[in-house]
Amino acid sequence: MTSPVRVRVLVETPQHSGLVGPLDYLSERPLMPGTLVRVPLGRREVLGISWHDRAAPDQAPPEAAVLRPVAGVFEGLAPLPSPWLALVDFAAAYYQRGLGELALAVLPPELRKIDAPGLAKRQARLLKKLQREGTAPALPAQADAPSRPALGPEQQQALAAFDSALAEARPLPLLLHGVTGSGKTEVYLRAAEQVLAAGRQALVLVPEINLTPQLERRFTERFPGRRLVAMHSGLTPVQRLSHWLTALLGQADIVLGTRMSVFAPLPRLGLIVVDEEHDPSYKQQEGARYSARDLAVYRGHLERVPVILGSATPALESWQRALDGRYRRLEMAQRIGGGVLPRVRLFDMGVLPRERSGPGNSQVPVLAPPVLQSLRERIQRGEQSLVFLNRRGYAPVLHCADCGWKSGCPHCSAWRVFHKGERTLRCHHCGFTERVPRACPDCGNLDIAPIGRGTEKLEEQLAELLPGARIARLDADTARGKGQLESRLAEVHAGEVDILVGTQMVTKGHDFRRITLVVAMNPDSALFASDFRAPERLFALLMQAGGRAGRDAEAAERSEMWVQTWHPQHALYAALKTHDFAAFAASQLAERRSAGLPPFSHLALLRAEAKDVAVATAFLRAAAECAARLAGADEVTVYPPVPPSVSKVAGIERMQMLVESPSRMRLQRLLSDWLAQLHALRPQHKGLARWAIDVDPLAI
Ligand code: ADP
Ligand code: ZN
Ligand code: ZN
Repeated sequence: MTSPVRVRVLVETPQHSGLVGPLDYLSERPLMPGTLVRVPLGRREVLGISWHDRAAPDQAPPEAAVLRPVAGVFEGLAPLPSPWLALVDFAAAYYQRGLGELALAVLPPELRKIDAPGLAKRQARLLKKLQREGTAPALPAQADAPSRPALGPEQQQALAAFDSALAEARPLPLLLHGVTGSGKTEVYLRAAEQVLAAGRQALVLVPEINLTPQLERRFTERFPGRRLVAMHSGLTPVQRLSHWLTALLGQADIVLGTRMSVFAPLPRLGLIVVDEEHDPSYKQQEGARYSARDLAVYRGHLERVPVILGSATPALESWQRALDGRYRRLEMAQRIGGGVLPRVRLFDMGVLPRERSGPGNSQVPVLAPPVLQSLRERIQRGEQSLVFLNRRGYAPVLHCADCGWKSGCPHCSAWRVFHKGERTLRCHHCGFTERVPRACPDCGNLDIAPIGRGTEKLEEQLAELLPGARIARLDADTARGKGQLESRLAEVHAGEVDILVGTQMVTKGHDFRRITLVVAMNPDSALFASDFRAPERLFALLMQAGGRAGRDAEAAERSEMWVQTWHPQHALYAALKTHDFAAFAASQLAERRSAGLPPFSHLALLRAEAKDVAVATAFLRAAAECAARLAGADEVTVYPPVPPSVSKVAGIERMQMLVESPSRMRLQRLLSDWLAQLHALRPQHKGLARWAIDVDPLAI
């Protein structure tokens, strides 16, 4: 009999408990790091992961007598691969979260409910099923032989660069800058083909769950002999566990999924693709606020595999890295089949005469005459149009002209949106919903009116302007039910729709073949938003929207995008007209450089929430005082606390404080010293609901 040994185990301990590292347990035998276990924690038994021992050698092992034994070991399951552990170590440290919290949060939740024998059973059943299905992973590539298009010259160049990356010991990430329809996906497919043929696994990230089915189809059609598993929040817990196991067991050749799949355990990883790498959805907005795009790059570096970041409008951070030579930039400027990008036309809304819309009221028409004419032409020719307005609901607010009442949310500092079809006023921040009142709740006036326009109203107005047109709306409201999005998209693809109206949901990735006209209603607000990233977002969104038109080369010649704007002289629109991302990026980067903004500086936000705004503010002020006393504080600027754009949500006031440094490393060092102090600070601030650090925040 050998005597039990001390093992270190990560369990889920909430951030505020202050327990951030692994805990000590006793085990009959040493455990490989990455082994899943069940251990007692307080009065419960919980899932844990045995972790590598980073304890300094001079640190005396704790008294064995006080340690509790491991309750169960998941013997049959291979330990999580060591690069996976390293990725989690990095992510927890970089995003300033507890290691246990992060590690357990990125495992399939279903794992927590199973004991070791239960998992062994599932694993056996899964392996049997996979065997029955018969696809054989890691075989030579003969099975992968459906027809593939001959590559165009730009694709060939991109793949040549990929080949040399594959041959390098430490490949640089590849930034594939390709206009929509330039054949980026084909490049991903060929790159995957190579790594699959070499017996490796490919990880493909997409920004949104809605985009997975389309890409999934292209991959499964191309690789009929291979096994692909999806990972996203739309799976059932049991499916998610089974896909995760398939990946970990090395039985999945391709893992395709949303940001969470950057943590997929892959023992034979050979390639990471991040499609639409600029998309804000890659940033997790709660808990550990990680950027899956950035972690993908780090993971590629760790595992020494090529990473392909693809976009028509790369994030300025990525673009600058390419300029600095830290990424290799690959250009694909031509659309497949020689199609041109749609002609961008600006309509200056300022020149339109105002229409009388009621006593004392006047407003500009919904659509400028040439835009309306363009829509009519499309309908006559049997082509489709896409009308894009980034605001859902009927109207953003209801208003009483007599007493000034507006449909505010009682719980948030925001208006409740009028949804006409539902007859409701609904808050898009906290969800608070009421039936729309018949009369003004304050003065009884019956004449309360919607102000402004959302997609629901736009749909109604288009139907009035274009009688007989078949109009479909696509936004978070119409796509809520299961299968609704798919059926609506199918209608569009089948040509049963003349005009598709929607929010940014319609601009993303969908390969519409019959659209020859895109209309952006009035996107100007982003030009003057306080968030320094707003213009970058707008440019990407409009390029992406425009990219929906003319995907058929034959129709490309008569494809156009109309932008209705009050600021036709703006430089952003000038760059849009020439589809010149590089010029836009250069002007934005010059502004950012002179303002000391990312990517030329590094940011973090400390957020605090409380019922009483004074409590949140006091916590942030005290935190700032702490920061000022830390080593290296002179290289980091801490700005005064400010409210975010929506300062109160569901009755909780929010405040935030920006921390900035020209050096990522110095910022990181300060944050990790600061974190411990913030934990200690919290008990002195009664009434503080939550606080959190957001590293590399996307919205400030
Ligand atoms: P992107 O991802 O850049 O928007 P895709 O890869 O979806 O572009 O390609 C656009 C269209 O062109 C797709 O229908 C694709 O099948 C087709 N395509 C891609 N590469 C080629 C090629 N080399 N030859 C012919 N068709 C191609
Ligand atoms: Zn009133
Ligand atoms: Zn609300």
